[in-house]
Amino acid sequence: MNTYKPTEPYQFKSCKHADQYMEILMFQNYSFLVWYLNFLKTNSSPDSIKSRLQIHLEWLIAQGENRPVTMLCPTCHQELITHFSIVSGHSGCSMSAGYSSCDDEYCKSKISAGLDTSTHILIWSPIKFSEIIKFRYKGEQNQFADMIKTACGIDREKNMTHQRAFEFFTQPARTTQPA
Ligand SMILES: [Zn+2]
Repeated sequence: MNTYKPTEPYQFKSCKHADQYMEILMFQNYSFLVWYLNFLKTNSSPDSIKSRLQIHLEWLIAQGENRPVTMLCPTCHQELITHFSIVSGHSGCSMSAGYSSCDDEYCKSKISAGLDTSTHILIWSPIKFSEIIKFRYKGEQNQFADMIKTACGIDREKNMTHQRAFEFFTQPARTTQPA
């Protein structure tokens, strides 16, 4: 179990994102953070002491998998949403937090109703940051990060400061985990 409890956000000192905050990059460039953690892991020997950077990055990426959701299911208005629907077709993916659902099969069927399945595929995507890297294009990755903000009640009109982002990632994990 991870017992690391940071008291402040992490600011990169070097690398191509010098001066930027790791917490902000979770939303803006998640794929870089995943790549960087991999890089750190493959370039350190198993018995070496982990740097604070690596410890913080591992913690942050783990937190991205369980952020508490506040948005209610648009169909039943009772349960919190657990998944976004991603519609994939010839011209790429389309997605919107409005097309999300709780775990109930009826609610999911309401979202998928009317979709032309001869030309489009609907994918249910859990509300986790790790889903971001499943998208090929930066624009789609940004859209997914924006949907996480909406699902978790982050005001997208307000500027995302490193302090606000840090507070978001230090909130307790959600209690129900998506499948
Ligand atoms: Zn529902």
